[in-house]
Amino acid sequence: MENNVLTFLGNDSGFGDRNNSAYVETENELFIIDCGFTVFNEIKNKFDFNKYKEINIIITHLHNDHAGSLSQVILYLWFIYHKKTNVITNCKNMRKYLEITGTMPEAYDIKDDLENLKFIKTDHTEYLDAYGFILTIKGKKILYTGDTCALESFLPYINEIDEFYIDLSKFGGAHLKVDDILEDLKKIKVKGIKIIPMHMDDKEYIENLIKNL
Ligand SMILES: [Zn+2]
Ligand SMILES: [Zn+2]
Repeated sequence: MENNVLTFLGNDSGFGDRNNSAYVETENELFIIDCGFTVFNEIKNKFDFNKYKEINIIITHLHNDHAGSLSQVILYLWFIYHKKTNVITNCKNMRKYLEITGTMPEAYDIKDDLENLKFIKTDHTEYLDAYGFILTIKGKKILYTGDTCALESFLPYINEIDEFYIDLSKFGGAHLKVDDILEDLKKIKVKGIKIIPMHMDDKEYIENLIKNL
């Protein structure tokens, strides 16, 4: 995983010990992807937040394993580092979510997209809206599904990317069932695109299948 654009803070499924979350740093910006309930403890002593001009937290959807410590992180950056957080998201209830968790509006800006990031709406569960995204960073283009049970909305972007971060599950349900999409994954791999599984409920099973595609 050393040469991948993203470094994972955790890649467990929703009931695992370390929520699915990743980060990438550029010269003066930090991007954190999702901020589940285990993420505050992962990051609070990990970064020197003083050194970043912008701190961007990309939120794919509002399940607790993706946004459960978002308010906590924003408050921490505001009170301890005197930094305003950029929350990058298309989630339609984000403002309400931050309001009801007592996050003061001056501590964050909500942005729909960035110059180098576009969201892609996907299907995950009927109870909330969920998004993946395509991000151009450090000379690479990456596609990140977020939590999804469908591959379709991402396929139009496959030919332009270097790395594909994909929610894979052994059991399926609200997530892509790995056994159902092995043929699609093979076709993606032969194009020379790196497939990086995430949000895994059975790492050994899934990583083994991906390695041997
Ligand atoms: Zn999840
Ligand atoms: Zn979810």
